[in-house]
Amino acid sequence: MSTAAPARWPRIVKDPTAFKRPPNLADPQAARERFRWSDARSWLDGLPGGAGLNIAHEAVDRHLQHGRGARIALRWIGKTGERRDLGYAELAAASSRFANALASLGLGAGDGVFVLMGRLPELYVAMLGALKARAVVTPLFSAFGPEPIATRCEMGDARLIVTTPELYQRKLRALRERLPRLAHVVLVGDAPPALLAEPGVHAWAALVDAQPDTWTIPATPPESPSLLHFTSGTTGRPKGAQHVHEAVLAHAMTGRYALDLHDDDIYWCTADPGWVTGTSYGIIAPLVCGVTSVVVEAEFDAATWYDVLERERVSVWYTAPTAIRMMMRLGTEPLAGRDLSALRFMASVGEPLNPEAVVWGREAFGLPFHDNWWQTETGGIMIANVPALDILPGSMGQPLPGITAAIVQRGTDGHVHPVGPGIDGELALKTPWPSMMRGYLNEQARYAKCFDGEWYLTGDLARVDDEGYYWFVGRADDVIKSAGHLIGPFEVESALIEHPAVAEAGVIGIPDETVGEVVKAFVALKPGFEASEALNRELLGHARKRLGAAVAPKSIEFRTNLPKTRSGKIMRRLLKARELGLPEGDLSTLESDEKK
Ligand code: ATP
Ligand code: MG
Repeated sequence: MSTAAPARWPRIVKDPTAFKRPPNLADPQAARERFRWSDARSWLDGLPGGAGLNIAHEAVDRHLQHGRGARIALRWIGKTGERRDLGYAELAAASSRFANALASLGLGAGDGVFVLMGRLPELYVAMLGALKARAVVTPLFSAFGPEPIATRCEMGDARLIVTTPELYQRKLRALRERLPRLAHVVLVGDAPPALLAEPGVHAWAALVDAQPDTWTIPATPPESPSLLHFTSGTTGRPKGAQHVHEAVLAHAMTGRYALDLHDDDIYWCTADPGWVTGTSYGIIAPLVCGVTSVVVEAEFDAATWYDVLERERVSVWYTAPTAIRMMMRLGTEPLAGRDLSALRFMASVGEPLNPEAVVWGREAFGLPFHDNWWQTETGGIMIANVPALDILPGSMGQPLPGITAAIVQRGTDGHVHPVGPGIDGELALKTPWPSMMRGYLNEQARYAKCFDGEWYLTGDLARVDDEGYYWFVGRADDVIKSAGHLIGPFEVESALIEHPAVAEAGVIGIPDETVGEVVKAFVALKPGFEASEALNRELLGHARKRLGAAVAPKSIEFRTNLPKTRSGKIMRRLLKARELGLPEGDLSTLESDEKK
């Protein structure tokens, strides 16, 4: 495997005397040795009377017993600028009303409760209330079309769904016959009387608001099912990862250590709760850590985002490479004159964060972006650039306390074994940890294939260096084999986006009789740059110089946009299928404007 990329980007050295505040994880090395999951348990309360561990209790109700009921839990900013603050006490009462509403419909432990709506306060209330009732919660991204909604509701045995009248009419109504198990639909906001007359359709106000605002959470053994999360579908049909209440230990640890949340922080996670990041780190972890979360209903727009950062005095910001690259397209000018002095820590997840983007953070915000790695299956952040560690741009950081990672290869005995630094292999995590999935819904064989002995195999290729930093190489399915080299698309893409004309790049292998596969790149340009033969040659030359002829792309094609999942990840499998005229597979999570 080529090791071309890392050396070029200088290390970002952390100076402890320059921290805006001392990080929670001051000595990551020592903590890795000393940390036990029982430590995270000791930060939490557990249900009264030893009745177990419930995510919603730790996220919300617990704070009232510690005198923090008046603190703002959620600061909601609507599309048209309206604002609503929900204190911890209010959120506790509202979620209890929702739990009571579920009980009044005969729903409770183990029942599938789905939410399908934009980032409205009721979404947060419903998810927390359903967790209090021990229902199994599945968020669905509100931009899904009817088909992905129907398949997920069927798979997850949805009994009740919370949505808006508009989404119901556009996407769900026609599916009701196909979903006989979906007994109840709760509509948030003003619903036309004709809709409310349909079987099982309820108005939120009538069903929920009149309920008592106290609720005793039933005993919740830590292994009780909590959330069912569907993966992004980047590599194929989305899988349903089943999670349990014990995961809250990992949310507490990672909120504190990976995101450095202190209880007076103003925190903003830009991910939609329709995806696991938006739930684990848009709802659960920040509430468990007692912070104020900013919730922005509007979709991405650089000016709006910068307004939010400045006006709300956001101190910790968790976002994604796709958004960072969109901001980079516009340069630093829109940031001129803004006061972002409250900002202390910026993190990113979801896709590899190109070194260029890490460094751009410093230029634009005075702080680097801290990449971290995890997946729907792991339930929480596993590998991270934490505040106290130097950053090696392009690396996703080091395993968090409580997490043991390794790079493994399969030996002749048929089992995986850890390999040393500098060698590429599959990223593996030693089982168990509290937030790991407990199964893939209806896919036992697939779940079983993720494990070899004590190792969970992530399906991602990476390497570790001498210092213990992990470097993402690519998804096992995306890696390119060319003339005896294994080429990770990420390092080729990162080299391309270093060029000032390139906003985004997606790299795939095209089958070739002589060398196995040849590297091909698809490139989207920044505003002000035109696709041309000359630019094409220049980019090929730039890539050859950076990567060497063996790894650089042999051809480049310009595209206005690259196909992405709705969570913003580049879908290399689709670039490849389209290039080769192969079946396109599951497109349910493709951004709609990309669909043919
Ligand atoms: P599917 O499993 O359905 O194909 P997906 O893997 O994109 O979709 P998620 O669970 O949302 O679904 O994403 C996790 C994956 O995203 C990781 O396995 C990894 O491939 C990628 N990823 C996440 N964070 C990073 C990161 N910091 N660096 C590199 N890759 C990352
Ligand atoms: Mg995956």
